[in-house]
Amino acid sequence: MENVRAEKTHGVHLDAYSRCTHYFTDKDIVSIKFKCCSKYYACYKCHENLEQHPVIKWERADFSEKALRCGRCQFIFSIQSYLSGENYCPQCSALFNPLCKNHWDIYFNVSMADSSNYQSSL
Ligand SMILES: [Zn+2]
Ligand SMILES: [Zn+2]
Ligand SMILES: [Zn+2]
Repeated sequence: MENVRAEKTHGVHLDAYSRCTHYFTDKDIVSIKFKCCSKYYACYKCHENLEQHPVIKWERADFSEKALRCGRCQFIFSIQSYLSGENYCPQCSALFNPLCKNHWDIYFNVSMADSSNYQSSL
């Protein structure tokens, strides 16, 4: 079995923290594994640029799947801990971009109303 740390993040013009050409602030360091192709991408636009298929969202039943990776420490963590977290890495505390929330419904089967109330509804 392949070491998960060896799985590379895909994307357009990635830097050492897996930031891409679309999102490149200090906080845009999370990679997300896509259900459709089991590849980590820096963002959905990278997926759109490099893949020919539509995105398949993670369903609620999949939220225990470890599909998020911190670009700073490479820690891999679950969708659930990402969605219910406070926008920082559970391992190294690197800050994540809180605006990613606006795109959660592209990656995960959550409605926008859900994402603002996600914590209280758990
Ligand atoms: Zn895909
Ligand atoms: Zn991108
Ligand atoms: Zn980290």
